[in-house]
Amino acid sequence: MKNFKKLIFAVALLLHSTLSIAQNIKHYDGYVEIDAKKHVLKAEFMISFKTLPVGESMKLFLHRASKNLVIKSGNKEIATTITDEEFVEKDHAITFERSKIKNLKLKVSYTLNLDSLSNNGFRFHKNWIELNLYTAWYPINTNYGRFPYTVKTTINKEYKLFGSGIVNKKGRKWVIDQAIPSIDISQIFYKELEEEAIGNIKLYHININNEAVTTIKRNTESHYKLLNNWLGQTTSTKLYLAVSNLKHTTSYARKNFISLSVAKKYSEPYDKILAHELGHLWWNKASVNSWEEWLNESFAEYTAIIAQRHLFGEKNFIKNINNLKKRTEKLASPYQLKKGTKNYQKSVTHKGAYFLYELENKIGREKMAALMRTIHIAKITTTKDLLKLVHDNQGKEIASFLLNLLKH
Ligand SMILES: [Zn+2]
Repeated sequence: MKNFKKLIFAVALLLHSTLSIAQNIKHYDGYVEIDAKKHVLKAEFMISFKTLPVGESMKLFLHRASKNLVIKSGNKEIATTITDEEFVEKDHAITFERSKIKNLKLKVSYTLNLDSLSNNGFRFHKNWIELNLYTAWYPINTNYGRFPYTVKTTINKEYKLFGSGIVNKKGRKWVIDQAIPSIDISQIFYKELEEEAIGNIKLYHININNEAVTTIKRNTESHYKLLNNWLGQTTSTKLYLAVSNLKHTTSYARKNFISLSVAKKYSEPYDKILAHELGHLWWNKASVNSWEEWLNESFAEYTAIIAQRHLFGEKNFIKNINNLKKRTEKLASPYQLKKGTKNYQKSVTHKGAYFLYELENKIGREKMAALMRTIHIAKITTTKDLLKLVHDNQGKEIASFLLNLLKH
């Protein structure tokens, strides 16, 4: 009873402390020219707002190697101040007065030398030009919310494009269109590479040996099938999978798009990253601007561990759980954890996954599997709603059990 009161109290508290993330942006329209011989990108982004963010000044982050920056609104140039504040890596902050924005539209133009895109190792590669949030190649402020985008690019004619969105070629222009609000404009221009298929999934790879390609195909198929059967059909029906061995370490998942970075040998830890990123095709609904993103990260991580259990068996599972236990023992719970605190990413990804394993132990594998499916189908985006669902679905004792894990 005591626990239950605590739960109600915490739920009420949460209601007030839940951050509401603004959805200020209506659309991004990009016009880009890439000279793959000179390694230069020239961009013009028209950012349309639904509402302007609160406060007197506004801020956008962009790669600090960007040159010839011009910001305009209502056809008038806007004065900007540049500070060293970083958002990802090697970017800086551009601030300007909010009152200068006319008709809710802002035009940002600049040039960028692609050789400076070494963030996380996304270095310019002539056969694989990967542009994403981590390269800070377009102006971004995630506090202004997710946004749909259309980006039209001209590039040397031997290149093709895939990425997070529907791709069309209109004349000389490659058009990528993402109607689902996203935090990232991720796309890869490539040449001299084959497109392969794994069922509905399109696979592109660079620097991957034949043996690894075969394994990646087989594992992807297994995980994808399992997750669809287990959690319900993903709404991401078309999926583009990019696998590279280019010495960067960042793997990420966006709408209909996964970029997986691997080493020469495709081992089980890389496979877990693949399964984790596949998991994000289901677990992607919570805000990425607060600790609530444990609902994306920990759920994807736990899902990956279960997918591997299915494919590799109990021995692999025990190894994964032991690793998870070891690496999370001293970590803070993701619960109400401030973004930016030390080991934040590990807490929201691994600690929460361990909690889900503990919950599985408590209620049993079968009930846990059914619960995960219910959580996905209910489109849970906050921990408050999750606890309510667990309460309705599994009773108050189990809801308190989960809350206690989260709060300790
Ligand atoms: Zn993730």
